[in-house]
Amino acid sequence: MSVTGVFGENFPDRVSDACTKKFNSLGKMGKPKDDGEYTLLACVVKRDTDGNLEVVSLGTGSKCIGASLLPHHGNVLHDSHAEVIARRAFLLYLIDQIGRAASGSGSVLERKENGKFGIKPGFSFHFYSSHTPCGDASIFSKQEFSQDCFGEELLDGKEVIFGDKVNTGACKSLIDGDRSSLESIVQPPLKKLKSMQDGSSILSYQSLNCQNRGNLTVCLQDISENSSNITDTHTQNGEKPIEATDIHRTGAKCVSGELEDPKVPGANYHVTGALRTKPGRGDPTLSMSCSDKIFKWTVLGVQGASLMLFLEKPIYLESITIGHCPYSQEAMERAVFARFRDQLQKVNLPPGFQQIIPCIFQSSTAFPYSRSVVTNNCTDPDRVKPSPSTLIWSLTDFHSSKHEVSVNGCKLGTTKKNIGTSKSWVSICRQVLLQKFVLLLKKTSSVSEPCDGKTYTECKELSGNYQAAWRTLKNHVLRNWTKKPGYTREFKLDSCGIK
Ligand SMILES: [Zn+2]
Repeated sequence: MSVTGVFGENFPDRVSDACTKKFNSLGKMGKPKDDGEYTLLACVVKRDTDGNLEVVSLGTGSKCIGASLLPHHGNVLHDSHAEVIARRAFLLYLIDQIGRAASGSGSVLERKENGKFGIKPGFSFHFYSSHTPCGDASIFSKQEFSQDCFGEELLDGKEVIFGDKVNTGACKSLIDGDRSSLESIVQPPLKKLKSMQDGSSILSYQSLNCQNRGNLTVCLQDISENSSNITDTHTQNGEKPIEATDIHRTGAKCVSGELEDPKVPGANYHVTGALRTKPGRGDPTLSMSCSDKIFKWTVLGVQGASLMLFLEKPIYLESITIGHCPYSQEAMERAVFARFRDQLQKVNLPPGFQQIIPCIFQSSTAFPYSRSVVTNNCTDPDRVKPSPSTLIWSLTDFHSSKHEVSVNGCKLGTTKKNIGTSKSWVSICRQVLLQKFVLLLKKTSSVSEPCDGKTYTECKELSGNYQAAWRTLKNHVLRNWTKKPGYTREFKLDSCGIK
């Protein structure tokens, strides 16, 4: 049986197709505009006993709010990366499914002998992301021409520049036929990428000045490798060009306490395996990278603290499929489950918790609104930009007629006057999830003590085993996980509607 045969033939492509179809089936609201906007898509997919796939939650987006804007009452989304949105929308789906199972309606869950709920035999949950998650999974070597290295420009008849099409326009003015300008924006050649028939070679250079526009790889075709030419001018002390492999980079910064990135050109630019916060410019964020959050899910499950109160055991993802994009199987496996292996082996987790290693796949198809597809199809590379919107959808009555759209963590169209009021909330913000959680507790009579008047943190603390597992992880494995200010968690249910 092939690796994917466990879940059925062509499983990764079937997952990818199901997720793209679900995205396409949603209305236009909040979707990338045709003038060069791209977005990132993530979904949770249910697989039934016959191997049929059904998308149960969906998220898009690539934004994250800075630490200074963190909300006080749990009513703004901190982190709108697609993976995080899809997972929070999955919580809505689970709340709905637990409610259904409790009332005897059709559900993927069933009540077990101990009164808790569990997944019916034969069903499983799988994750899809159209792109490699930010953070540790995004650090891997560029073995060959990467997808984002294309386009060409002739420079004074000698060199051919291949550059990241998105950034070529920005750098063209700097390097337009002027070798001294070129020397100021490129570091020594990092790697010989290709030998040409005429004896010349194509070399990879890393941009110095264009870093604020993203990572740019400039590849020069050196017409005469041995002559006095640009290759030699970039070597140090007359030595040969550095024969190092360059790596894909991430803007996600190591959190305080982790090893720091050396940031030297080439393969050693980053350390691997470190915990990182989300990439972003300006106001720094306290949200952990998606690689780190997904790692956490492999140990604690995707259901979070509150819903653990209803479940007999954590819900683990059985596979993760990444869409066609720059990707490394090794980096994905390291980031998602293999790092911290030694530390994990030494800790005792509460009953029911253990690291469940998901199968990691890549599909052969790309998400049609991914950055690389949009860039390829766009006549004006300067216009390619991420969509500011986040799409939120779950397989629940709440989203049956329409998906939600958020911008900056609030419902699309929120006026300044309405920020903080229920008019600005989306269904997956902490405040609304807490409301739904409390209603579910009442419906299922799962705990004797009422939750009214408790804070968000106090409600989460009801899940003793989950909290013990999370504390163990934080104390011994994920030591440098960021702490958000207490006020982001200390809100009460009865604080809703604060103006
Ligand atoms: Zn991310």
